[in-house]
Amino acid sequence: MGGQEIKFVQEAFDTNWVAPVGPHIGDFEQDLRSYTGAGHCSVLGSGSAAIHIGQRLLGVERRDVVLCQSFTFVATANSVLLQGATPVFVDSELETWNMCPVKLEEAIIDQQAQGKRVASIIPVHLYGMPSNMPAIMAVADKYGIPVFEDAAESLGSHINGKHTGTFGKGAALSFNGNKIITTSGGGALISDDEKLIQKARFWATQARDEAPHYEHSEQGYNYRMSNVVAAIGRGQMQVLPERIEARRANHDWYFKKLGETWLDAELRDGTVCIQNTSATGIYFLREPEGYFSNRWLTTVIVNPEETGGITRETIRLALDARNIEARPLWKPMHLQPLFSESKHYGNGVSDWLFEHGLCLPSGSNLGMAEFARIEAVLDEVFHFRMS
Ligand SMILES: *Cc1c(COP(=O)(O)O)cnc(C)c1O
Repeated sequence: MGGQEIKFVQEAFDTNWVAPVGPHIGDFEQDLRSYTGAGHCSVLGSGSAAIHIGQRLLGVERRDVVLCQSFTFVATANSVLLQGATPVFVDSELETWNMCPVKLEEAIIDQQAQGKRVASIIPVHLYGMPSNMPAIMAVADKYGIPVFEDAAESLGSHINGKHTGTFGKGAALSFNGNKIITTSGGGALISDDEKLIQKARFWATQARDEAPHYEHSEQGYNYRMSNVVAAIGRGQMQVLPERIEARRANHDWYFKKLGETWLDAELRDGTVCIQNTSATGIYFLREPEGYFSNRWLTTVIVNPEETGGITRETIRLALDARNIEARPLWKPMHLQPLFSESKHYGNGVSDWLFEHGLCLPSGSNLGMAEFARIEAVLDEVFHFRMS
């Protein structure tokens, strides 16, 4: 926490706005709008709720297909299931690790040829890196399909100053405990379309029609954010720029420590081929020209052919033995048992990322003492290779 959160929470208690309504909600929404540049915003109980409501807002229904980035957290795809629609997965490109615009177009053409209605497209800005939104929007516009961005991990990221979440018809943000700012749990739906946001608020409050009694003509949900939670969010917005600086500084630290090599890779016949060499066998994801990533998590590719057999598991387990948590990259949805029957437009990229990728410890509160502990493990692992 930054320090101001407790003041806002105290204010909620002092004024007795301990409820899913109250002044902090509108103020937090205003903060998010002015920060991202989105026209309208509705804060909700979670990022997952925002993605789900977003699909319904875009008209996703039973029997529809939604083209969803395979390389993501399961919440993205679950939102499609909640609408009774079918998620169809699209692989990643090597430049951003996010939805490949070429595979996207292939998926649209193929699904439409099978007589399926593609109701929406969900790119994800994973680990804070913006998806290639100019290319994705060009494909989506060509076929007249609305885009919903999963910006749960990318608050503060942008392309030439335009924030992630403001390219498509709508987007979800998340303030879950692990995100770059947190309200303990929470999310938001942003859009430039005021009607969409009004509808989202209506559905999020059990679709209560205007009447003195409880009158309902549509299905709704209890997806609202509480005023107490919004109070935390207001305090967190004040420290968001610091948090991004801290995350990016973490990335710089690892980059210097682990050989300063960006990943230059190419797909050849369905195989990912690394084009350059790295002294350590470790590669980092570069920000394409004009892209700014909040670097929510620092992620690396470990190439065992250059590390003398050290894999990302070697590093992960060595850290784990010192009680330091690191994780593989997201396991793509098309490899999940839950989606074993689902159609996937693959190119091998997300499988390769999952096989060789590692999320390094990336908290905003990592200090010299923590980095010293991490460094000791890295030195041990890489010394072992040399001996
Ligand atoms: C965290 C996350 C979500 C879900 O957000 P919650 O607030 O936890 O429901 C969705 N998509 C991605 C990519 C996420 O990382």
